[in-house]
Amino acid sequence: MEPLKSLLRTLIQFESVAERPDQLLAIVNYAEKYLEHPGLRIERFMKGEKPSLVVSFKRSRRDRHFKVIFAGHLDVVPARREQFIAREEGDRIYGRGALDMKGPCAVMMKLFKDLAEAGEEPDIALMLTTDEEIGSQNGVRYLLEDEGYSSDFAVIPDSGEDFHIITDEKGALHFRVRFKGKPAHGSMPWLGESAIEKALLFYEDIKGTLLYDSDDPEHWHNTLTLGTFHGGKKVNQVPPEAQMELDFRFVPPFTLDEAKRVVSYVAKKYGAEVEFMSEGEPFSTDLDHPISKAFIESVKEVLGEVKFGKTHGATDGRFFAARGIPVVMIYPEGEDIHGDNEWVSVPSLARLYDIFRAFVKRV
Ligand SMILES: [Zn+2]
Repeated sequence: MEPLKSLLRTLIQFESVAERPDQLLAIVNYAEKYLEHPGLRIERFMKGEKPSLVVSFKRSRRDRHFKVIFAGHLDVVPARREQFIAREEGDRIYGRGALDMKGPCAVMMKLFKDLAEAGEEPDIALMLTTDEEIGSQNGVRYLLEDEGYSSDFAVIPDSGEDFHIITDEKGALHFRVRFKGKPAHGSMPWLGESAIEKALLFYEDIKGTLLYDSDDPEHWHNTLTLGTFHGGKKVNQVPPEAQMELDFRFVPPFTLDEAKRVVSYVAKKYGAEVEFMSEGEPFSTDLDHPISKAFIESVKEVLGEVKFGKTHGATDGRFFAARGIPVVMIYPEGEDIHGDNEWVSVPSLARLYDIFRAFVKRV
């Protein structure tokens, strides 16, 4: 457990937030150095100032298909200065990224290095990226879509809680809608057209179209959050402009394509302009897939039991799912991601390591 712990402590001390490209570079340099081994091939990429690595046991750089890709991100969300110094309390390590996901990254880095040292050459790869917290366009999306990496299966330890195997993820669509009105003096509103009123009517309309009644205790249903709303200039003017940003989360059989069509259709009724900001297809992983089975068996072997779960948040899993690659996610024990007291349990990282090692043996 000691080497894992000291690796995690080191990773935490990099202030690898989106605003610090120097630190993103520094942590990737560190990971590359750590993984340096004659048995490992390391490919390095840089896209939009976001460095990333793909580590494998392959001899040829042209062969970019693997049985399993493990994916992790080394970037974190901003934190208080002291959260970049790991603090140990009992079995726990506190610090930014301890759980999300420098802890799981430490597990995977150590796993690849240990496998190389043992002379093994499994058909697996490790993707380490640095832009997950801001949408993964230059990380996982880039590596899969532009660099042509692919796999039969993906494992992403970036979601869930306490070793639940996460096999279902909601789809997500973030979009901005701009409404135009016609300004007029507030004393003579009949001469104008209110952009805010259009926005309010649109909001009611789109809710009625995208949402439906559900009493599922897990909230496995569509949701819509009006995240921002701006409009109007002063109290005595009919507002000429209004803008909304909405966060739509959805479950199958609803698809991303359907969501975009519905939003565009309803916006058109109000003469509004739509801009899609980010998106992700929902997915549900087939538990009868032979590699899913191997993963489940490995969890059972190490923990003695298996628990399943679903995730409401969008992860890098969506990029694999969009290419038809089944994904499972799993998290060690820990709490408060993106919060002030983020922590991970060190023994649970060791268990995660054991699960992955058992899994690699099976595939
Ligand atoms: Zn994460």
